[in-house]
Amino acid sequence: MHERYEVGASEITELVRDLALKANMLLPDGLKRMIGDAYNKEKMSIAKEAFSDILKNAELAAEKNMPICQDCGLAVVFIEIGQRISVCDGSIEDAVNEGIRRAYTEGYLRKSVVKDPLFRRENSGDNTPAVIHWKITTGKDIKITVSPKGMGSENMSRIYMLKPADGAEGVIKSVVEAVRTAGPNPCPPIVLGIGIGGNFETVALASKLALLKPEGIRHRIPEYAEMENEILKRVNELGIGPGGYGGMTTVLDVHIETLPTHIAGMPVAVNICCHALRHAEGKIEGRPIDD
Ligand code: SF4
Repeated sequence: MHERYEVGASEITELVRDLALKANMLLPDGLKRMIGDAYNKEKMSIAKEAFSDILKNAELAAEKNMPICQDCGLAVVFIEIGQRISVCDGSIEDAVNEGIRRAYTEGYLRKSVVKDPLFRRENSGDNTPAVIHWKITTGKDIKITVSPKGMGSENMSRIYMLKPADGAEGVIKSVVEAVRTAGPNPCPPIVLGIGIGGNFETVALASKLALLKPEGIRHRIPEYAEMENEILKRVNELGIGPGGYGGMTTVLDVHIETLPTHIAGMPVAVNICCHALRHAEGKIEGRPIDD
């Protein structure tokens, strides 16, 4: 017999609210360590100063419960939900949006969503709707990750529909070109999430998921790990540096996520994220339902 489980919509709202506030105000520790390392090895004084300001800003944000950046982003929410779970008192999508609404209102976070993208461009007033990505799992819990993404770096992200013959070198050159073209616009130091494979729409999602991988961990397959290291090296050789002032570190970290693809193609998505790579995750355990 397969047991069934339930979770309340209000619990989802509470968790999304808390995660959105946390993500906007606390820079992940691993990222802070990487910025600290970049500061320690930097030789140019202006670049050193920029790293120091970024770290002070993160400290102040945490201490005063203020957002790390004025652009509190589109609220990107990843939901992994067990297939045996029912949400008992409402729609899960409404619950997520209510959580975002509360966080952005109660936390005085900037609301950046316009309802119509081209003509009217009027602000929705509460940073909803969230961008929600769903994954069904076999578990009996709901895992939620909230990752607000500012548009300064999202605007600089790119998709390339490469040919299989372009190989690893083609991928690396495309990534370096995307970062070179972006210059100081995505608020470096940056983190790169790179999707390879899939098709036009799935490669973009893979690149965003790549950004959420643990800091400093290389790909489990040696060839991809080598590519990540090579991209780190070549992008840092561009010398864009923190804030675009020049310096040794333009990119803090690189992660590749791969997908099966078509024999005739090799899509590549480069998701550039600024140093404010904000994300927080939490879980709700399902309660068994008595039949
Ligand atoms: S790119 Fe990042 S750091 Fe720059 S304004 Fe946007 S969210 Fe803030």
